[in-house]
Amino acid sequence: MRPITIITGGSRGIGAATARWLARAGHDLVLGYRGNRDGAEQVAAEATAHGGRCLPVRADVGQESDVDRLFAAAAELGTITGLVNNAGLTAHIADLADTPVAAIRQVIDVNFLGTVLCARRAAQVMSTRRGGAGGAIVNISSSAATLGSPHEYVHYAGAKAAVDAFTVGLAKELAEDGVRVNAVAPGLVRTDIHAGAGVPERIETAVSRVPVGRAGEPEEIAPAIGWLLGPEATYTSGAVLRVAGGL
Ligand code: NAP
Repeated sequence: MRPITIITGGSRGIGAATARWLARAGHDLVLGYRGNRDGAEQVAAEATAHGGRCLPVRADVGQESDVDRLFAAAAELGTITGLVNNAGLTAHIADLADTPVAAIRQVIDVNFLGTVLCARRAAQVMSTRRGGAGGAIVNISSSAATLGSPHEYVHYAGAKAAVDAFTVGLAKELAEDGVRVNAVAPGLVRTDIHAGAGVPERIETAVSRVPVGRAGEPEEIAPAIGWLLGPEATYTSGAVLRVAGGL
């Protein structure tokens, strides 16, 4: 039976690279996106070229009704066995005192609340004690969770630290339900997230902090996510796997 996996934020960046990796590994996919339908359809076309199914679905992870729609679309494909909680944004780069409240709310809503809402639905449908087939959840955290990100986005770091704590707790809560829960914490990765926060040159300005001396590519994060979801990681739960070039 092919695994059926939902990836939130699958239209570009780390989510898109993960979709390509999982499609090659034989997953059928549902790709959530917020607004970039063309990107999601392009990624879906690349994924289906590997022989599986891939359905793009517009779904804001901070909205319960959108999360329900995302899971309903996945259920049409069959039994859901995987969730990658990847949708995220940094939104604004500044000291906290200069950060608008709306940006803070958005960062917490998408990075933390969105992860919680999607994991909640996944727990409902994947738990073997509730009639599901079991499975795995991978939450995308950040090296920011332990570094704190001063002068950039301390509230984003806090939201990602919350994702780490949530991962540890939910892994324990779902251990007897046949559902493993882990996180991947990327460091500085070359995606549009930095331009989305208004600082497209952030890779160049932040790279000197990275011990290996360069930014990572989304394709270097995806295999860690794929491994945690897959059959070789059956004894791994509650882990936060740092993929950050030594950061
Ligand atoms: P990205 O290239 O900016 O892509 C973000 C993705 O999230 C897009 O697919 C976007 O959809 C989606 N998204 C944004 N807001 C959403 C919402 N409210 N509901 C649903 N989807 C939403 O970002 P990325 O760098 O790949 O980041 C992926 C994850 O890695 C995030 O959780 C991020 O915090 C984490 N991370 C990234 C880095 C880095 O340096 N890049 C480092 C550490 C952690 P649309 O395309 O439709 O807008």
